[in-house]
Amino acid sequence: MMIDVHCHLTDAVFQNTLHQVIAEAKEVGVRAFITSGLGFKDSLKVLEISDYHTVYPAIGIMPYDLRDLELVIDLIEKNSDKIVAIGEVGLDYYASGDTDRKIQEKAFVEFIELARRLDLPLVVHSRSAGKYALQILIENRVEKVVMHAFDGSVSHAEKGAEKGYFFSIPPSINRSQQKQKVVKRLPLDNLLLESDAPALAPNPNEVNKPSNIRISAEWISKLKSIPVSKVEEKTTENASTIFNIKII
Ligand SMILES: [Zn+2]
Repeated sequence: MMIDVHCHLTDAVFQNTLHQVIAEAKEVGVRAFITSGLGFKDSLKVLEISDYHTVYPAIGIMPYDLRDLELVIDLIEKNSDKIVAIGEVGLDYYASGDTDRKIQEKAFVEFIELARRLDLPLVVHSRSAGKYALQILIENRVEKVVMHAFDGSVSHAEKGAEKGYFFSIPPSINRSQQKQKVVKRLPLDNLLLESDAPALAPNPNEVNKPSNIRISAEWISKLKSIPVSKVEEKTTENASTIFNIKII
């Protein structure tokens, strides 16, 4: 049994195939999905498709498009008893100038304060900004954190792990030495499985699907020389703890 802790089931690419995509994932043992909103409109859809049994909602906004920031904050507050996390939120320095970075950081701190007030975990996007995102989280003494598809250095990941932060591993680990290193060095206690579907497929030209978290589990098993059943069991336990969901 596995939990896909980060995917985008509301993406247009799944519009006509969602039932099939979920059925396919269930067949390989994916029992639950946490689907993350990217902005206001998408987060409304996330709430709409969540059944709180198989599909659980998280509400967030991409750090490089914060136009609907206030609407998203308001939506989180109004649905704080329904959502399992705030996210994805964070920093994206991949293509941003200095002023953009300041604006992103200010919004990130707002979400940190909101998460603290509502006692919800944060699912953090940190493209080319892993070091900075972790710095802000640690400075603000945030406790419940999932670093999704972390692309920073292993030494920074270790600092996050020391604080009890989780790192969710996407199927693109099969083509990323950096992600393989993160898995080798971090304890299983800090790892989760994510697809980030439709992004981060094992083959960069394909649409990713939640069923592919099986590949993440297999890589963790291989890199840590432990049975894949142990990876499934522990990552499911980790996910249930951080998101406070009971999977029967
Ligand atoms: Zn994502």
